[in-house]
Amino acid sequence: SKFVVGLTGGIGSGKTTVANLFAEEGICLVDADVVAREVVAPGTHGLNAIISHFGTEMLTASGELDRAKLRQRVFNDEQERQWLNQLLHPMIRQEMLLQVEKATSDYVIMVVPLLFENGLDRLVHRTLVVDISPELQISRTVQRDNVDATQVNNIINSQCSRSEKLARADDIIDNHGEISRLKREVHALHQRYLQLSGNHNA
Ligand code: ATP
Repeated sequence: SKFVVGLTGGIGSGKTTVANLFAEEGICLVDADVVAREVVAPGTHGLNAIISHFGTEMLTASGELDRAKLRQRVFNDEQERQWLNQLLHPMIRQEMLLQVEKATSDYVIMVVPLLFENGLDRLVHRTLVVDISPELQISRTVQRDNVDATQVNNIINSQCSRSEKLARADDIIDNHGEISRLKREVHALHQRYLQLSGNHNA
């Protein structure tokens, strides 16, 4: 099986930025957010099951899943949320593993925002945490999404804490500095992962 590095970090920490730098090194990415949308695309078993369960009011006019509506529907309903998670989580997991096996690079970066929270660290051989302070998480996310700081702070508090992520990380990438520094850090990690994947496949 292919060597997999799970890339995670809190909201606005720089996961996408770091993942794109690995892609520049020629490494294939498997992105949990992308896969989560793929498994409920029109025509999938995922979308059909959701519509059978919650009704066609969960569809937009163009026949796609109305994600905001679904989120709202299960927000205050623990039982329905569980039903949905039990449907989607195994499908997402299976599709991510399929994409890993299809990947053509020496190792794969799996980008998973809630890697530890959802126990997906069990699917990977090594974990890489993008680390920044909560202050920087807030300022970068506010600037990117034009949302208010309180909203971002609430999301930070709902996620696994910075100290827990750092304690569970095999590797940590510091993203307080400039992109040029990040690039050098990624390059060094890439060399390390090439070596590890070589041992893994030997
Ligand atoms: P989310 O989980 O919220 O989607 P993310 O972890 O994928 O976020 P990014 O989107 O990569 O984070 O980064 C958050 C914002 O910070 C982006 O606007 C990005 O361009 C910017 N950013 C990332 N790293 C740096 C850096 N080293 N210096 C300046 N800006 C940065």
